[in-house]
Amino acid sequence: MISQDSARATGGQTTALKAPPRPRLAVVLASPRGFCAGVDRAILIVEQALARYGKPVYVRHEIVHNRDVVERLEGKGAIFVEELDEIPDDATVIFSAHGVPKSVPAEATRRKLFYLDATCPLVSKVHAEAGHHHEAGRQIVLIGHAGHPEVIGTMGQLPSGTVLLVENVEQVANPHRLAYITQTTLSVDDTIAIVSALRARFPDITGPSKEDICYATTNRQAAVKAIAARVDAILVVGAPNSSNSRRLVEVARQAGCPRAMLVQNSKEIDWTFFDGVERLGLTAGASAPEHLVQEIIEACRGRFDVRVEEVTVTEENIRFNLPRAVAG
Ligand code: SF4
Repeated sequence: MISQDSARATGGQTTALKAPPRPRLAVVLASPRGFCAGVDRAILIVEQALARYGKPVYVRHEIVHNRDVVERLEGKGAIFVEELDEIPDDATVIFSAHGVPKSVPAEATRRKLFYLDATCPLVSKVHAEAGHHHEAGRQIVLIGHAGHPEVIGTMGQLPSGTVLLVENVEQVANPHRLAYITQTTLSVDDTIAIVSALRARFPDITGPSKEDICYATTNRQAAVKAIAARVDAILVVGAPNSSNSRRLVEVARQAGCPRAMLVQNSKEIDWTFFDGVERLGLTAGASAPEHLVQEIIEACRGRFDVRVEEVTVTEENIRFNLPRAVAG
């Protein structure tokens, strides 16, 4: 249909005015991005528990840090709570991918709740390291962010006061029989700097045989670094309480793209962010589903002539087994 605004009469005929060409936008997708094996597994555990044991299934804490995922699981019959005292007796409860202090399964056992542990195996690995160091009589230093559920869970593997949380080297006071472990979702570069400083100051400090920062965090940061200097701005899809998503914003800025921003979904985009942007980098944290990335590309198509390219730094093919109670 030709509107009055877009047409004019010429010699008794109506001619459509051509719409001005839309500005071009190259969207550079960082790969890997989005869901990791630990998040996939945690979501599958909730879905399988619902299918096998019926609803409701209770989940202690957001299963992963993403509202979209949480709301979708709520729609299927999951109920999210913060503590076990919000759960009735005889309920099925799942612990989130971030891991929980030992007191949580102990309390679930005391109450005879049926529980499933969706702790990512790579977080469980850090828990095991903490146990080994403690048995060897070492003072454990945990490099991580105060208040993050993973940090609370890791510190809670051992008696209160056993694990010392540090965010910088100055916070380490005791130089004797030290061992460090880390949160799995830290900035790789920042952590290297902290560990180097720790090693310089405490040469006998013991660390993990293989880094505690997980493969998904490492790969997503590498992918952002690979695109940062090639784009004018970067959007990271992720939740404000998602540690690995927030680190991606920091890494993007440090790697040469100061205009980097976290968004939860396309509705949150402030389009003034795109002023002067011809090449947009796009990635997602490990708890953000791919459809949110695709919705942002579609939203861009509504305003720009979009061309999409993808920069892949590595392929991921890691899968974790499900607990026996929901497997197969
Ligand atoms: Fe596991 Fe890493 Fe994913 Fe966290 S980000 S759930 S540690 S794979």
